[in-house]
Amino acid sequence: MRVAVVGGGISGFTIIRKLLSHPNFNNDLTIDLYEKDANFVVGAPYGKDTKEAIMNEHAQDLSIFPENPADFLEWLSENHVEYANNDAFVPREFYGDYLFERLSYLMDSEKVNIHESAIVDCEIDAERDIYRLQADDGQWHEDYQAVFFTIGHPPYADYYHLEGTPHYINSPVPIDETLAHLQPDQSFGIIGTGLTALDVVKYLLKQHNWTHPIRLYTDGNTPFKTVKFSRYQGEIQQSFSDEWIDSHRNQDGFISLEVMVDTFLNDLKANDIDIQRLLELYGTGSISEIRSAIAHPDISLEKLRRYIVMMTIYLPDLYNALTPLERDLYHQKYERTFNHFRSQIPVESLAFILENLDQGRLEIVTSLKSIITEDDSYQLETENGESYHADYLINCTGFQFDIQKALAFDPLIKNLYQRDMLTPYYRGGAMVTWPDCQVVASRGLMPNMYLLGHWISKIHYGNNNIHLCIKQAERVAEGFAAQYGNNE
Ligand SMILES: Cc1cc2nc3c(=O)[nH]c(=O)nc-3n(C[C@H](O)[C@H](O)[C@H](O)COP(=O)(O)OP(=O)(O)OC[C@H]3O[C@@H](n4cnc5c(N)ncnc54)[C@H](O)[C@@H]3O)c2cc1C
Repeated sequence: MRVAVVGGGISGFTIIRKLLSHPNFNNDLTIDLYEKDANFVVGAPYGKDTKEAIMNEHAQDLSIFPENPADFLEWLSENHVEYANNDAFVPREFYGDYLFERLSYLMDSEKVNIHESAIVDCEIDAERDIYRLQADDGQWHEDYQAVFFTIGHPPYADYYHLEGTPHYINSPVPIDETLAHLQPDQSFGIIGTGLTALDVVKYLLKQHNWTHPIRLYTDGNTPFKTVKFSRYQGEIQQSFSDEWIDSHRNQDGFISLEVMVDTFLNDLKANDIDIQRLLELYGTGSISEIRSAIAHPDISLEKLRRYIVMMTIYLPDLYNALTPLERDLYHQKYERTFNHFRSQIPVESLAFILENLDQGRLEIVTSLKSIITEDDSYQLETENGESYHADYLINCTGFQFDIQKALAFDPLIKNLYQRDMLTPYYRGGAMVTWPDCQVVASRGLMPNMYLLGHWISKIHYGNNNIHLCIKQAERVAEGFAAQYGNNE
């Protein structure tokens, strides 16, 4: 059996690990791995970069082996003892070193052929269900019985249509590669206030004494989500599990949103978490809320955070157990609040931000409305009629999940789409089956073609963290092996 894995991050390597160790493929398996940026194992997020770019989970939660939850902490003790504590927020490049040390042995397997190239096109021989792939050097690679696209995240979104203007940085990662040339007398705007924006701000503020304050822009009324402190170490009641999901399905396989919400609220009550109080105190993400949260750490917030981390691994299963109408209801009624408490920002990052706001080295501008390009610089206008100047703009607004808009930036996505091998999911990203991740095209299911990772995180809801990517890739590889292995 000839198999192609396109994309060499954690999802791709998990597929390879599972297939190589599966008894169904004892003798008959060749895997061609294609990776466009030589990011083997580490993928796009965990390659070499500034130490200011940090993991958003505590070190104690980052082992990739569930059978040894302390594996990452043990690795830190041997390699970066200064970070070897439960609550450390570790630089992402160190996490990449850990992943590489644990999984790069797979590249030495005689069954794995490594190709340092991008795949830009794909064709199917529909009579034989065999694929061929075109690399960016124009060469076609033939005869694949299965293709796993583990290509990471969509391109960065360009909401203000600035791509191609002279001083606009659309994709800021790796940060110390894309921003190292900036000069201290230039003025900057950073569009967005999420985790990437904060990594960028930390990097810039530690790099130089800038002549002008750095400005963070958001189109919302308040900039942040909630603060993440150390991990709550006490017992937490968390009812969701594979067994809970199986036992609550009705005869059509669905679980009602009401049952899920009731279970969630009952759990919070059992854990003595007053969600109403937390909403009143921390529900907007304003600077004053963040100040007060840092000044008076709140045990309930830590418990809620722990609870949400524990249930996150079940999010895609729970979401796909809702009927489509109830998924819409979830988005309308609950998603904003749930994400507000789920997307927490490490306390160190927020404390640093507040310190620099107070010193006037940083400013936050809310209600951004439009951006006008003027020669080599930019004019940013707010809903309130304020106007700001920037020599450079750094885009930290997240990813473009609208496939039609992303086509221009990704030749592979463009070709898959125009060959009818990819269908947009109506909430963004691409449509795949649950839980197998098989690609759904309007011509039907693409035989043995799978898409994993961030591109499917709208339908496989929440699938944008390391543990979910691993869980999903393991499931897909096991499902594929069970169906197509031949025990030779
Ligand atoms: C900046 C950033 C920070 C993050 N931080 C965290 C975090 O702190 N904690 C957490 O849990 N999750 C984090 N994530 C989420 C992260 O996406 C997942 O944790 C996980 O690493 C994704 O793995 P992946 O293999 O699916 O994708 P990736 O690791 O992105 O790997 C995809 C690979 O495919 C390659 N590729 C893409 N297109 C092609 C092509 N056409 N041909 C060949 N190769 C191709 C890319 O070069 C890349 O190496 C972060 C994501 C980003 C982008």
